[in-house]
Amino acid sequence: MDRCTIIPPHMLDALATSGDPELAARARESRAIDERLLRARRGRPEARGDETPIPPSEDRETPGPNRSIHDAKGEQDLPGEVVRKEGEPATQDVAVNEAYDGLGATWELWANAYGRDSLDGKGLPLVATVHYGKDYDNAFWEGAQMVFGDGDGVIFNRFTASLDVIGHELAHGITQYTSGLNYQGQSGALNEHVSDVFGVLVTQHHLDQSADEADWLIGADLLAEGVKGVALRSMAAPGTAYDDPRLGKDPQPAHMDDFVVTSADNGGVHINSGIPNRAFYLAATAIGGRAWEVAGQVWVDTILGDIRADCDFERFAALTIQAAQARYGAWVTDIVTDAWAQVGIGSSQRPDRPGPAQEDEPPSRPLPTHDSELTLTRSGGFAGLTRRRTVTLGDLPEQDAHAFTTLIANKDLAAVSRAPAVPDGFCYGLECDRPPINVQIGEPALSARTRALFERTLADAEPEHPQPEG
Ligand SMILES: [Zn+2]
Repeated sequence: MDRCTIIPPHMLDALATSGDPELAARARESRAIDERLLRARRGRPEARGDETPIPPSEDRETPGPNRSIHDAKGEQDLPGEVVRKEGEPATQDVAVNEAYDGLGATWELWANAYGRDSLDGKGLPLVATVHYGKDYDNAFWEGAQMVFGDGDGVIFNRFTASLDVIGHELAHGITQYTSGLNYQGQSGALNEHVSDVFGVLVTQHHLDQSADEADWLIGADLLAEGVKGVALRSMAAPGTAYDDPRLGKDPQPAHMDDFVVTSADNGGVHINSGIPNRAFYLAATAIGGRAWEVAGQVWVDTILGDIRADCDFERFAALTIQAAQARYGAWVTDIVTDAWAQVGIGSSQRPDRPGPAQEDEPPSRPLPTHDSELTLTRSGGFAGLTRRRTVTLGDLPEQDAHAFTTLIANKDLAAVSRAPAVPDGFCYGLECDRPPINVQIGEPALSARTRALFERTLADAEPEHPQPEG
């Protein structure tokens, strides 16, 4: 992996030739530093698998992030003086606090949504340096830590200001420990893409936004006042993030027809990432609900799965489709396949579906939302009493709401409901208005976890005697 910086070289080049001598000098300086770092890192071993640059702390008592924020004080020595460690109170320095909180929000997404403890899955300490260099127009993942410049204040604000930028940089760390996607050409654009995906998902998770509510922008808070644009990149509409006399126009394509062949920027890694970015956006919004739950999980399964470092767009698309099939079945598979087809990838290829069971697969169905109404019943049993509770998903404790969402999304739900009943066993009914579902599941077919979920949800319901139907 080469350098993973948030500001692509094409933007720094545009600034260097913008005609404004002061901006040009700053941009040249940022580029020169980037290149020095790049040279310094060549020949350094890649950290994959067990080659951990910083040993994980093994004696942590409680699970949680292990953060330390350092201050380079305008110099370029890493990591600089430590100014805030895990559990310490906020300081007077907004950049320090933003970095601390941003590392925390990123750790939360990976731990809570995907069960991964830090970048390496083994509690790797999260280290960040702020105030790196003077007016430094960049943020980057250095291979063992994050680095943030203050920005020049003219084009770019301080780089800790956008949470998705922090999530983006740390996702480079995830990639380093997992897929190891080569930072060149299509695999490099996928490396950037994965960072953009988990960058926006950190923000969406932190704000508890649904796919529809999110802005799908990278670095919306980075652009200084007066810059003509909304962000560095737009996943919903690549190529439209900015159009500014000093920065130039956002060069990202949104479709394979516009793929940019270039030797700059490691083969256009910050440019062509627009194509898979839009595919993810299309999939996540078509699935609906919270993007980290289903679409994000499919992408996590992909990068943690059997993926090669030289993976290209077609192969990556096929892997996401396989991951969707394996975890969610046809309805998500079809959406993901269609999303890639809309950006010109993989439309002619479909993965092999598993054999005989496929005719029984339910048709596409959307996820329940917070407004979906669930009616849960427990009937049967020796006493013949029915417990019933109707509840809006959003009124349940968050973990339970998530568990119901996962259950309803589960492709095996219909099959489970066909399991044979046992005499006097309880029978649980799960009915949902959106998506429309009405299944009866015999107790023996339920996992202990799902049964506990049902029992917890029904705990407040009054028992009733069965009503005659008709
Ligand atoms: Zn990046």
